[in-house]
Order: sequence, then C-alpha cells, then structure tokens
Amino acid sequence: MASPITTILVVEDENSIASFVSLYLKNAGYAVKTASNGKDALALAAAEKPALIVLDLMLPDIDGIEVCKRIRQSSDVPVLMLTARDEDIDKIIGLEVGADDYLTKPFNPRELVARIKSILRRAAPERHARESEVIVHGDLRVDAGRHEVHVGDEEIQLAPKEFDLLWELLDHRGLVLTRDQLLERVWGYTFAGDTRTVDVHVRQLRRKLGDASPIVTVWGVGYKVSPAREPQKDPAAA
Ligand code: CA
Repeated sequence: MASPITTILVVEDENSIASFVSLYLKNAGYAVKTASNGKDALALAAAEKPALIVLDLMLPDIDGIEVCKRIRQSSDVPVLMLTARDEDIDKIIGLEVGADDYLTKPFNPRELVARIKSILRRAAPERHARESEVIVHGDLRVDAGRHEVHVGDEEIQLAPKEFDLLWELLDHRGLVLTRDQLLERVWGYTFAGDTRTVDVHVRQLRRKLGDASPIVTVWGVGYKVSPAREPQKDPAAA
C-alpha cells in the first residue's frame, strides 16, 4: 500500500544549486532526475513523466521560458520556475509561458519544498471537486468544469493560477480576503509568503477582464468581489 514515489525533474546547469535542490527533495521523499540543459530537460520530461518540473530560467542552450512553452504543448505537468530576476515574473506565470509558480534566486530550499508540496497537492484532487460548478457574476461566467471564462460571448484566456484566484474570490463574494488568505487558498502556502504574487495575478486578471473585472481592492486588507451588476445589454445589438 506504499504510495508510488513521486518523481521531480530538476533542470539547472549550476551544479551546486542542482545538487542542494536534489538533496532537499530526496530528503522530503521525492525521487529526483536532473538535467543541466534544455535539450535533456525536454527528453527527460517526455521519458520520465515527472510529477513536477523545477526549471531554471537561464540554461546554456534553450532558455527556461522556451523549454516551458514546449512542455506546455503536450503536457500540463506543474512547472516551478527559478529566476534570478523579478522582471520576468509577469511573463513566466502568464498564459504564454504557463509556469505554475516561481522562486527568485537566492531562495530558501525549505520554501522550495513547501511550494512543491502545495503545487502537487493542488494538482491532484481539488480541481475535480468543483467540476460541474459555474459561477455567473454580471457579464462574467466562470465554468470550473470546462475551465472557461466568458465575458458576455467572448472567451477570456486565463493562466491556471489566474483562474483559481478569480474562482476563489467569486466563491467568497461579499467577503474580504487578505493576501495571505488568498496565497494559502490558491497557492497552498501555509506561511506568510510573497504576497506580491497575489497582486501580480490580480493585475493580470483586471487587464484581461477589463470592465468585467469584479475585483475590488480593500486598502490595507486585501481583495473582495464587488456586487454583481445587471448583465449589460447593448441596445444596438438587440
Ligand atoms: Ca542557470
């Protein structure tokens, strides 16, 4: 009845980082495969079917962003990106690249393990629990089963975490959720983490949803969902 060993693929060309990350992951009970360039990473991702990939942004051949995009063409495997710079974050967690999370170097390996655990926890059962649920809020329609968001007739493409954050806020309409609460519910962190992650995702949601965004900033506290407006009817289209 032993649970199957979970394999994590670590992609990092700096040996010292690759080995201490591997050590911490093995100590946490994971099996670890390592790759030191993008080409090997793609081959191992296909051959080993890891449960999660830790992917460094700066690699000697194909960069991490391109590796992640290629993996995304055929797989939903969770990807945690390691980056040395803050400026890539919007892009990394955006739909185009599709990483599930990121850590900025230097990072605490315990935090890396905590995040991996929470990503794997979320990747497993929770999505199915709300499979048939749909939330309608004004012009906004969010379908958890299909993982689709519509504003009126237009489908809006959201990254996975943007979708989960929107769902969490809509699911708690009328309540203010703090950044820490949102981090814990959407990202699964059980400690006060990098709450800026929440702000980055809210910004993306507002940009993508435009006037249909229901998210209200409660200064000094967090975010909530505003009351629904009546669905707008365009008289010219009637
Ligand atoms: Ca590197």
